[in-house]
Amino acid sequence: MNIQLQCCGLVIIALLIFFFFNQRRVGLFSEHIFLQTIMLTGISLIFDVLSIAAITYMDALPVLLVNGICRVYLASLVMAAAQALFYVLVDMHDERVYLRIVGHIRFATVAQILLVFLTPISIYSDGVVMYTYGPSVLLTYLFAVSYVIASLVCAVVFRHVIVRNRRIAVCIWMTLWMGAAVIQFFNSQILLVGFASALGMMALFLKLENPESNMDRQFGCFHAHALTQYLDQCYERKNPQSVLFISLAGSKGNETHSLSRSESLVRLTEYLFRFPKAKVFKNNDPELVVLLPNADEMMNIYQRVKEEFWPERKENIRKDGKMGMYPFTFMALIPDILLLDNSDDFYQLLQYLRAENRRKNSADTVYVDGTIFAAMRQRGEIKESVLSALEEDRIEVFYQPIYSTKQKRFVSAEALVRIRNTDGSIIPPGKFIPIAEETGIIAQLGERVFEKVCEFLQNSSVEKYGISYIEVNLSVVQCEQKNLAERYITIMNQYKIRPWQINLEITESASVKTKEILLENMKRLINHGVTFSLDDFGIGQSNLDYVIEMPVSLMKFDMNMTQAYFRDLKAQFVMQAAIHMAHGMDLLLVAEGVETEEQLNGMKNENIDFIQGYYFSKPLPQQEFLNFLEESA
Ligand code: C2E
Ligand code: MG
Ligand code: MG
Repeated sequence: MNIQLQCCGLVIIALLIFFFFNQRRVGLFSEHIFLQTIMLTGISLIFDVLSIAAITYMDALPVLLVNGICRVYLASLVMAAAQALFYVLVDMHDERVYLRIVGHIRFATVAQILLVFLTPISIYSDGVVMYTYGPSVLLTYLFAVSYVIASLVCAVVFRHVIVRNRRIAVCIWMTLWMGAAVIQFFNSQILLVGFASALGMMALFLKLENPESNMDRQFGCFHAHALTQYLDQCYERKNPQSVLFISLAGSKGNETHSLSRSESLVRLTEYLFRFPKAKVFKNNDPELVVLLPNADEMMNIYQRVKEEFWPERKENIRKDGKMGMYPFTFMALIPDILLLDNSDDFYQLLQYLRAENRRKNSADTVYVDGTIFAAMRQRGEIKESVLSALEEDRIEVFYQPIYSTKQKRFVSAEALVRIRNTDGSIIPPGKFIPIAEETGIIAQLGERVFEKVCEFLQNSSVEKYGISYIEVNLSVVQCEQKNLAERYITIMNQYKIRPWQINLEITESASVKTKEILLENMKRLINHGVTFSLDDFGIGQSNLDYVIEMPVSLMKFDMNMTQAYFRDLKAQFVMQAAIHMAHGMDLLLVAEGVETEEQLNGMKNENIDFIQGYYFSKPLPQQEFLNFLEESA
């Protein structure tokens, strides 16, 4: 009966090892430790079987051999128990600290094994019941139980550090083991411990160590969490890794592509895994990250992917006119991750590459070199300077007066943000607004600007100079926030601002979802009494449908359009058509970027309602703006 149980245990272990090796593994350190653990359990089981066989035939075998086999089995139990502790500790420290701690514990284990070998052992067998006893066995129990208790204590004490599934798996494993040991202690004829440890391995495998748990089932590659773990490990070990980053996010497919985005990712993953050392991960977005230790090999993969999958290739167009792959957004080759300090920086680089690609707005391939790292670092520095300016209240609002061609005086102004450096110099918004938008800080920044405008309106009574409202820019990112209207109304109430003193400038937003939230926000603010204008008309997409849909009362021609009007006859026609259309919709018009008298007169002739530009004034700091108004009154 007993030997059958051990054999069943061995079968379980063999199966687990088979499954373990038969699946793709990320190559994580914890996987390595699990392999050690399962191998040790297997070895212990083999010696369990051998010791039972040796005791059964002990009359025919030399005593020294029988005792030796039994002692090796006992030693393997102590080692397996120590391994349980090593397994629990895997999440707790960085690899070097871990190896140092494990080294110390191993030293103690060797001493314990020596004691097991040196103390007396006795064997009982009546043909049916057989077991070992004596000081050597007692010591084995003592050492094993202390390791088990230590593992459980560590699992509880360091529960905040240890992965939840590892805690649960270890607790199941140890409970099975202890339960079996207690039964075996009181019923020496039932040899359960070996089988229980095999069951414990099964619990570990199912709960945590199945390499499949690192896989993204849909795409057949490793998932994003495994990527972070693997990157952290590579940074810790200083393992060079070359990276290929492929993004299909944000690109627009159409009916000419036979494969959907997901199908294309699956196809690409299959292809990439054909390169023996390549590890393919799916990032959160529809993006793949491929890692490989050798940069030359990665360059080869990069060329091959470009040749075979880059969708613009004519060869990829099939007979029915369809192209195979869903279009790539872009592909980047990073020669070595160690050019960056850690996985946080790595993800920042990906974010930077995405943002840069979005700005370029075309499918592209990038070789990440020193210039890109430098630009990324600069971006990080700018982000930091915005954050510190927010914290230290170095955000300033400049005001650029806006002239009414009908009333022949200044009637409003646009609020334009600036950052005041600690040395007194100014950072213009063009430098930091795009970064603030990408990183989400714009929400806080925009709100701060709005508060400052409200404070200015409350304290400076600009109405007496004829300024009836201030135009404040809203970023597309802010418009995506569901609580934007609520927050802005709260701020206006706080500073007792009459809503018609505020005009919010919006720009075109790309996605339908964003547009819905924007419209909802606009509706609430308009109901409150705030007006809106459409900024930057004439650059980017400037979709006329968009103007029709938006409940704006003003439309602002971008400086580029204003100036093109005076350079180019075609631009003149376009602008005249837009003026006609806007006036037809009862929209008032602002021309930005008017720098000369000729431009001013040209815009007046076109019936433009308001003029904003350097001809009258650059954006001015608060006090200078008030002085300007006083002088021109
Ligand atoms: P915008 O909203 O279109 O603002 C007009 C920009 O044109 C301002 O640049 C202004 O100084 C400039 N400008 C106006 N007239 C002339 C002219 O005659 N000649 C020239 N060369 N430039 C002229 P600024 O202040 O550098 O702002 C750039 C952009 O930064 C703004 O364009 C706006 O998109 C953004 N921005 C500024 N402040 C904020 C803010 O508080 N929030 C948000 N979200 N964006 C802001
Ligand atoms: Mg504006
Ligand atoms: Mg503008």
